[in-house]
Amino acid sequence: MQVDVAIIGAGIAGASLAAYLPESVRTIILEAEAQPGYHTTGRSAAFYSETYGGPEVQPLTTASKDWFFSTLAPGESNALMVTRQGALHVGWEVPESALSSFAAPLRTLCPNIDIIDADACLEKCAALNREGLVGGVWDPDSCDIDVAAVHRTFLGLAKTNGHSRVCDFQVSALERRNGLWHITSSRGDTVSAALLVNAAGAWADEIGHLAGAPPLGLSPLRRTIGLFDVKGMAISPDLPLTLDLDERFYFKEQSGHLLVSPADEIPSPPCDAQPAMEEIALAAHRVEGRTHYQLTKCPARWAGLRTFAPDRAPVYGVDPIVEGFFWCAGQGGFGIQTAPAAGQLAAALVLQTELPPSFETLGITSSRYAPRRFAAAA
Ligand SMILES: Cc1cc2nc3c(=O)[nH]c(=O)nc-3n(C[C@H](O)[C@H](O)[C@H](O)COP(=O)(O)OP(=O)(O)OC[C@H]3O[C@@H](n4cnc5c(N)ncnc54)[C@H](O)[C@@H]3O)c2cc1C
Repeated sequence: MQVDVAIIGAGIAGASLAAYLPESVRTIILEAEAQPGYHTTGRSAAFYSETYGGPEVQPLTTASKDWFFSTLAPGESNALMVTRQGALHVGWEVPESALSSFAAPLRTLCPNIDIIDADACLEKCAALNREGLVGGVWDPDSCDIDVAAVHRTFLGLAKTNGHSRVCDFQVSALERRNGLWHITSSRGDTVSAALLVNAAGAWADEIGHLAGAPPLGLSPLRRTIGLFDVKGMAISPDLPLTLDLDERFYFKEQSGHLLVSPADEIPSPPCDAQPAMEEIALAAHRVEGRTHYQLTKCPARWAGLRTFAPDRAPVYGVDPIVEGFFWCAGQGGFGIQTAPAAGQLAAALVLQTELPPSFETLGITSSRYAPRRFAAAA
């Protein structure tokens, strides 16, 4: 089979790009697993927050906002994608200036955020421990995302555009000959493409290596989540996403349980990440120390790899050295909430067309997330 674009990886990164490539560009998505979304995409905490990820990530999150929701009232759901719950970044035993330092760089794109005192924090989340509580940064626009629905929507749009998808196709060899990539799977199947997109998540540097591209220095970092039963305090269905200001833990309501993460970042080789019991215990310890929740059983737990470039910003663009090789990598802990804008950005770069006009206002340019920045740094 010969196509214009072959995308390695059917996670949210590969799917959202394919959704924005028109029918005229023959595209195939190649996925190693038996189904798309098996790795990081299927393991997220499923929130959208413009105040999560820092100033480099925020433009892509904000640019994705209209796609996720436009007129949702608090607590309202748009049936398919998101429910608006708000996010509360809570400061314990920090100087008050820590709240304004956190909020200041985010305010331009996110004018609705507010610095609130300890009493107001308790109104939003009654379970918080008052001791040492200084205040918080309230983001009313944060949402829960139905990640499976979002992922399915992008895959559906790609299919509507005539693009195909092959699962159980683990790319094991890449060769560039006569202006084409010859892509071989571990079973010996082959595909040829003029442009190769590397959307392989934690494996992106390995795919780069197969293509002869210098590594970006991507770091897969394991993050763990536990769903806990809780005693001592009921879990309110209106509970906002609640994060420690220094990101040592976060929690939110999910299906009557408390979803908790110790916000761990454990370096890992690319793999099928599994939760470690010590991280589950750490999550419970940190949340119990700062709330009145008593975490009892943990009926479900999982872990996934959040993969970061050295500057923790995502990477979209052609490799500066290897011809026809496009990076769509380093989505870190924000690949779902940024996917609509990231898909549009990557598609415009692949097609060499103008970016959507709203992107310029948000500071998203064709060079901001380019892999060339690492070559320049080297
Ligand atoms: C615990 C946790 C919580 C998170 N919470 C959030 C959140 O609340 N909000 C948010 O926006 N983001 C969140 N994230 C981050 C988000 O999930 C990721 O940024 C996103 O899923 C990355 O998508 P991806 O497509 O790059 O990677 P993946 O989903 O891992 O997809 C990469 C695909 O490439 C395939 N592949 C790899 N090598 C090959 C090969 N040789 N041949 C063929 N296919 C290959 C893999 O099988 C995989 O399916 C969280 C992540 C974790 C782990």
